[in-house]
Amino acid sequence: MSKGTLRVLHLYPREMNIYGDWGNVLTIIRRAEWHGYTAELVQHHPGKPFPSDIDIVIGGGGQDSGQGVVKDDLLTIGSKLHKLADDDVPMLMICGLYQLFGRFFKTASGDEIPGIGIFKTETHAGPTRLIGNVVTKTPFGELVGYENHSGLTMLDDGQPALGSIVKGAGNNGQDRTEGAIYRCVFGSYLHGSLLPKNPAFADALIEAAAHRKFGSFEPAIIDDRFADLARGIAKKRPR
Ligand code: GLN
Repeated sequence: MSKGTLRVLHLYPREMNIYGDWGNVLTIIRRAEWHGYTAELVQHHPGKPFPSDIDIVIGGGGQDSGQGVVKDDLLTIGSKLHKLADDDVPMLMICGLYQLFGRFFKTASGDEIPGIGIFKTETHAGPTRLIGNVVTKTPFGELVGYENHSGLTMLDDGQPALGSIVKGAGNNGQDRTEGAIYRCVFGSYLHGSLLPKNPAFADALIEAAAHRKFGSFEPAIIDDRFADLARGIAKKRPR
């Protein structure tokens, strides 16, 4: 018997979904099922009504042009996302949508793409792309992933990072921060995809959603041997 239904919202699957980011959605759905929950996938596309009763929100990265396509819709649904964030709905935003969960991303061609300001951050395109394997230390253990971005993200004073860089560039290649946290909302530059190789982080998102909706989380024991092997190999990859 199912322990209950979790509705997983994938934001902009057509425009913002590169370097395997769809794997994050798949991992949340599969692991929620393995833990005994029913997972329902819901998608949001630009111009469509924003769905209701959402328990987890996942968003990915994209080209500057993809960010340009979704920006108006993101501003339209921004107040709904703020409300969910303040209601402790867990969310994971990778790269391009991480940037737009901050105040803005100014591209190399000088366009300023406005964001919704859940994170107190701003992002300016830098002179070179930051590309390669990344390892960071976070409250969810060591995360391994892969970054590819022109944007350099600066955190305001008091804006917590998701992690600190062990290997790679992270937010800006300078201050050794990676990603950002607001309540249960997590932003990160790590593609890969991130969650298949970092099951503890995936389970933390599922746990937060289950606690919020059902008041408890009853995990099952999952055999993570292959994920552990993948983590080990990813950690040893050259930058
Ligand atoms: N277009 C953005 C940048 O280059 C985001 C890239 C991404 O999502 N991988 O910084």
